[in-house]
Amino acid sequence: MNKPWRITMKLAITLFASALTAMAIAAPAEELNLYSARHYQTDEALYANFTKQTGIKINRIEGKEDELLERLKNEGGNSPADIFLTVDAARLAKAHELGLFTPITSKFLESRIPTHLRTEDWFAFSIRARVIVYNRSGVNPEDVQDYDSLAKPKIKAKFCSRSGSHPYNLSLMSSVIAHAGEVRAEAWARGMVANFARAPKGGDTDQIKAVAAGECGVTLSNTYYVARLMRSTQESDRKLMEKVGVIWPNQQSTGTHINVSGGGILKTAPNKKAALKFLEYLASDDAQRYFADGNNEWPAVESVKFSNPALDKLGKFKADKIPVNNLAMYQAKAQIIFDRAGFR
Ligand code: FE
Repeated sequence: MNKPWRITMKLAITLFASALTAMAIAAPAEELNLYSARHYQTDEALYANFTKQTGIKINRIEGKEDELLERLKNEGGNSPADIFLTVDAARLAKAHELGLFTPITSKFLESRIPTHLRTEDWFAFSIRARVIVYNRSGVNPEDVQDYDSLAKPKIKAKFCSRSGSHPYNLSLMSSVIAHAGEVRAEAWARGMVANFARAPKGGDTDQIKAVAAGECGVTLSNTYYVARLMRSTQESDRKLMEKVGVIWPNQQSTGTHINVSGGGILKTAPNKKAALKFLEYLASDDAQRYFADGNNEWPAVESVKFSNPALDKLGKFKADKIPVNNLAMYQAKAQIIFDRAGFR
C-alpha cells in the first residue's frame, strides 16, 4: 500500500468512528405506532413517503377493523398505539364512543378537510361512494337511477347484495333512515329482500361478477372495487366491466351515499407530536394523491389534483353531504331494520 492511500484509509476509519459516536449520542429516532385496518398494498408507498419527509419511523400493526378496536380496548392505558386508521364512518365513531380518541386542534386539518368529513377527534382522509352496478343487457338503466328503485317490482328476482350486517350496507341504511325515516327505510329493505336473485353472500366484487355473468341484474358496490376491476391487469376483469353499467344513485335528490376511511390520535398515544404530524401529512397533497392513484378513492381534500383513469371515467357526481358522524348515529337501528326485513 503506498502512503497517500494509507492516509486516506486512516481518515476514513476516523470519520467512521466519529459517526458511530455521534449516532450513539443523538436522541433516539422519532417513531410512530400505527394501528391500521387499511390493508391496501399501495399504502406502503404512502407510509414510506412520510418517513422520508419527516424521519419518523412508522411501526405498523395491521389487523381486521373490529379486532384492532378490541385490541385497543384491551390494551387501555398501556397501548403503544398513537394512531388508529380504519375504514367506515361507523367504526371510527365506535372508537370515539369508546373514548379512544383525543380531540385534535389543527388549523391545517380544519382548512383541508371539509366540515362534513370531520369530527372533533377523527378525520376522513378519503371517500368511497356506494354506486349501483347493473347488467347492460338485462336491466334498463332508467329503472335503477336511485337506491329506492332497488326495491321496486321492476327489479324482481334481479337484485344481489352482500350481507345486510356489513358496515357498507349499514352505513347506507343509516343515511336512508336519516333522510327518509325508519318507516320508509324498512319498506325499502323489505322491497330489496323481495327482489333478491339469491341470498346475500360474498363481497362487493363478487356481486359485480355475478351481475356481469347475468346471475343477477343489479347490485350495490363501493366505487374502488369498480375502479379496481376497470384498471385490472387481467383482461377477463376488464371484459367483465364491459358487460356492466355504473349509476350514480340519487343525483336528483339526496346525492350518492359516500363512506370514508379515516383516523384519529389515541388518547393514550405516547408520541402525540409525531401522530399529529402524521395526520397532517395524510391531508397533504402528496398523501391525498396516494389515496386516489393507489387505492381508487377520492381525496377528502377537494382541491387535490390526481390522475386515475378509472376515477376519471366514473366522472363527477353529487355526493350526499350528510355529516359522517350521523352515519354512525343510526347503525344500531339500521341493523334492526335489516334483520326485521330478513336482509341477512
Ligand atoms: Fe372494502
